[in-house]
Amino acid sequence: MELFKHLEIKNENQPQDIKSTEKVRCLIIGSGPAGYTAAIYTARANLRPVLYTGLQMGGQLTTTTEVENFPGYPDGISGQALMEDLKRQAERFGTDVRFGTVTDVDFTGPVHEVIVDGEKMIEANAVIIATGATAMYLGLEAETRYAGMGVSACATCDGFFYKGKDVAVVGGGDTAAEEATYLAGICRKVYLIVRRNELRASKVMQREVLNTPNIEIMFQHQAIDLFGENGVEGAVLVKKKGTPEEEIVKLKIDGFFLAIGHKPNSEVFSKFIETDQVGYLKTIPGTTKTHVPGVFAAGDVQDPVYRQAVSAAGTGCMAAIDAERYLAEIHK
Ligand code: NDP
Repeated sequence: MELFKHLEIKNENQPQDIKSTEKVRCLIIGSGPAGYTAAIYTARANLRPVLYTGLQMGGQLTTTTEVENFPGYPDGISGQALMEDLKRQAERFGTDVRFGTVTDVDFTGPVHEVIVDGEKMIEANAVIIATGATAMYLGLEAETRYAGMGVSACATCDGFFYKGKDVAVVGGGDTAAEEATYLAGICRKVYLIVRRNELRASKVMQREVLNTPNIEIMFQHQAIDLFGENGVEGAVLVKKKGTPEEEIVKLKIDGFFLAIGHKPNSEVFSKFIETDQVGYLKTIPGTTKTHVPGVFAAGDVQDPVYRQAVSAAGTGCMAAIDAERYLAEIHK
């Protein structure tokens, strides 16, 4: 049974390719922990949320194997199963979960216009953006071949599986320094693979790395391949690429961690919502409010620092409460 009906209207003036327009009280964009948590709260507050999942239904967690640090699962849970649970919980209270991707927005008016898949216009009183971020990879074929078999872009999520083993972290920024230090507390040896001859990380983080005896920094090295029978057993690196001293190095490792940055999925909103230099949406500190009234941001799309499933869920809850209060005041 369809729990909630949304008003379908036709507008003669709308562009040719927009096939339908729909009015929605609360629209949630994204289906990671932030989006589903916002959906649970807004649905229970009777805001009749509509949630568009985006292409990767369930978000980044569906690409990890076991999740052991999400509170409430003492025995761990697969990323896929956790996201299924969150979806069911959101639907239980009436969230209308739909498969579709937001392709354009117009946040100039009091009612926010959102285009889905280039053909459907949603007119929403409140919008919660929870589109997440995408970890960057080097683009090697081997990264796909060994996905879930030794390649990871999240040390906090997967580091534990490499207890007492040797791993490599690629990158020279704060994330790489932080992840290498974290992994050094779990693993036997951590190789930090840095493409230039210096780190980009802050001095404090650099000091931390340099003072950790089981981290070895490999400056001027670039990973070009991975090898192994049933998972990663090593990486192939090029040392001093493009110089007369260029050399191929084979490194025996069990885990290969990427820490070369994240790309927030904010492009479609950045015309209207202020971002930082990297593209993370800016919110008013201590809230999930953007500078556009009625537009809120939650989860990794606005979080360059914590980027955890549970912190994303936390800000999803905050966005729902901020949206509820906004709607109570403005769109009674
Ligand atoms: P950064 O963009 O700061 O660093 C990315 C690193 O990856 C750089 O060393 C870069 O090399 C390297 N890199 C990029 N592409 C490649 C490639 N194709 N091959 C090899 N190496 C590559 O990203 P971070 O995720 O580290 O940080 C993002 C932001 O978040 C920063 O502002 C950072 O300060 C912040 N942050 C803060 C933390 C904290 O305060 N605790 C923790 C984590 C992040 P190169 O230097 O040569 O460009």
